[in-house]
Amino acid sequence: MSEQRWDRTAGERPRRVVVVGAGMAGVQTAVALREQGFAGPVTLIGAEPHQPYDRPPLSKAVLLGKAEDSAFDVDFEALDITLRLGLDVTGLRAAAHELDTPEGPVPYDVLVLATGAEPLVLPGSEGVPGVHLLRTLDDAERLRPVLERQHDVVVVGAGWIGAEFTTAARAAGCAVTVVEAAGRPLAGTLPAEVAAPMAAWYAESGAALLTGARVARVEPGAVHLTDGRAVPAGAVIVGIGARPATGWLAGSGIALGPDGSVTADSSLRTSLPDVYAVGDCASFPSARYGERLLVHHWDNALQGPRAVAAAVADGLPRTYDPVPYFWSEQFGRFVQYAGHHAGADTLLWRGDPAEAAWTVCWLRAGVLVAVLAVGRPRDLAQGRKLVEAGARIDPVRAADPSVPLRSAVL
Ligand SMILES: Cc1cc2nc3c(=O)[nH]c(=O)nc-3n(C[C@H](O)[C@H](O)[C@H](O)COP(=O)(O)OP(=O)(O)OC[C@H]3O[C@@H](n4cnc5c(N)ncnc54)[C@H](O)[C@@H]3O)c2cc1C
Repeated sequence: MSEQRWDRTAGERPRRVVVVGAGMAGVQTAVALREQGFAGPVTLIGAEPHQPYDRPPLSKAVLLGKAEDSAFDVDFEALDITLRLGLDVTGLRAAAHELDTPEGPVPYDVLVLATGAEPLVLPGSEGVPGVHLLRTLDDAERLRPVLERQHDVVVVGAGWIGAEFTTAARAAGCAVTVVEAAGRPLAGTLPAEVAAPMAAWYAESGAALLTGARVARVEPGAVHLTDGRAVPAGAVIVGIGARPATGWLAGSGIALGPDGSVTADSSLRTSLPDVYAVGDCASFPSARYGERLLVHHWDNALQGPRAVAAAVADGLPRTYDPVPYFWSEQFGRFVQYAGHHAGADTLLWRGDPAEAAWTVCWLRAGVLVAVLAVGRPRDLAQGRKLVEAGARIDPVRAADPSVPLRSAVL
């Protein structure tokens, strides 16, 4: 049986798959291997001590105490997946096909890197009491009492995490000031005209958004800006981005990019034999978009593992070239995005951004390449399929919010 053949090494010993990182991408890899019929040993190693959990609820229900945790509903024992939690992998010796850990070497036949990303630290803020990051369950648990005590909070960074944290902190009754170095929220992600209505959401929620504001230093109780202003801060939450957690791979021979990502190929294989990379730690070349993508969103940590698991299970590499998708819940709105708008030549509005629900479509040479939907999930669902299909659309019909997006196809 082909299943048997691919589960075994040449010497008939079952191939051992080891996955490093027990977040979304690591767990999905292990589960997808079983779904694909891989019957050999699968070991999932994670540095955090907690049962593997999902991150999006950390800045939403978990932060507000509406959910205790967000553990994945996966029966690892029933799937015969060996979990090794609270174990930090410190090195990779590719020639020996071994990982280094404080509990001794771990051998592998196939290795999947799924170590995710680490939040960037605001220089000079390390060790200052009251300064927080929001990446882990422990971070969210440390932040819950901050919200409960209704501290004056300063959020550094008006990105996705900053917006979601601000939403939760306002809901909890905190006074919130958001300090953003760029001239608008989400400056690295969205064009100015699309981000402009989002800036208004901060004010509407009662949060103060200071744009063009740079942090000079953080002291207990205050954030000092470079223009001399001091903002009182019972707590400071830093949300200024994340970087692939790949420091432990230095010297291993795995190729890394300038952004710290494992530079995987179009099938998510790394520069070393028998080693794949998935999720937030890996970038991949997209033929669809003609550039290398590093995607830090949940859907990428679901789809990439499926491609890798299929390849490991039957030995046939799968090309991974997704249409990226993500969502965010902020200021009472459901924001969704599919595609990649770099290189678009036309931007269309469907609806009025002053209203509760609206959509933006990006076109390139008449083809829909990206969709951002605020409170219009049907636009997103239809738009995502059209982006995947490379559909040409009629810009006049697409700009009419009463016309279903799929009816605008030429
Ligand atoms: C607060 C928050 C809210 C989010 N909300 C959304 C959202 O609404 N929508 C959306 O699309 N995306 C969201 N995301 C992004 C999404 O959660 C990530 O893209 C996804 O978690 C990536 O999964 P991953 O498995 O690649 O990485 P991670 O989830 O970071 O998991 C990696 C794991 O590897 C472990 N690890 C790292 N190094 C080692 C090592 N050397 N040895 C052993 N283990 C190691 C880490 O401890 C970690 O547990 C959010 C992220 C955060 C932090």
